[in-house]
Amino acid sequence: MKGKLITLEGIDGSGKSTITSFLNSHPSFANAVFTREPTTSWIGDAVYKAIQSDTDELAELMLFTADHADHIATLIRPAIEEGKIVISDRYSDSRYAYQGVTLKERMEEPMEWIQMIHRGWTIVPDLTLLFDIDPSVAVQRCGKRGEQTKFEKIDLLKGVRENYLKLAEKEPERFIVIDTDRELKEIEKDVLQAITSIIES
Ligand code: ADP
Repeated sequence: MKGKLITLEGIDGSGKSTITSFLNSHPSFANAVFTREPTTSWIGDAVYKAIQSDTDELAELMLFTADHADHIATLIRPAIEEGKIVISDRYSDSRYAYQGVTLKERMEEPMEWIQMIHRGWTIVPDLTLLFDIDPSVAVQRCGKRGEQTKFEKIDLLKGVRENYLKLAEKEPERFIVIDTDRELKEIEKDVLQAITSIIES
């Protein structure tokens, strides 16, 4: 039996890591594979370096995309072929939404172009949970962890949120939008329900 790929997306501070830890300790997902992008490989390290410096936006996209390709080849595809449930904290939609903003001065329709360069080799998730929240609330939550990265600036996050919502609107069969400006218990309940229904389908 083929496995399933579930991805968690949303702006910084939307609650992805919090829900990933919840799922990780939930007995229903004891056999699931938990992963994330950027990955922990050397290419993932290069992505982190790019994020923390003034790297050219196009070069940055290429690094993210290389990391994605390697992630699929070494972990995602083999796990799915083994019938595993794979849960990734960020995946291809992060690129479409974030670099769709950072590259908007460089080309006409960056989000469409970035999607185009992924076509034919990326694995499209079975389910994407989009954690949606007002960027000002998210930034306030992130404030607790100190220095912001350039991707956590509020204006950028507004654009990223819009891009995410556009993606969700275009593919309603893949996305479930979850309002994360709520009590954690309510969010956990919605997430469990969404994942259970896709696993059982
Ligand atoms: P992300 O992984 O999307 O960047 P995190 O899960 O790290 O977001 O959450 C950012 C901050 O917000 C953390 O300090 C976390 O404890 C807090 N947080 C997450 N979810 C909620 C929630 N539902 N209500 C209040 N605070 C939350």
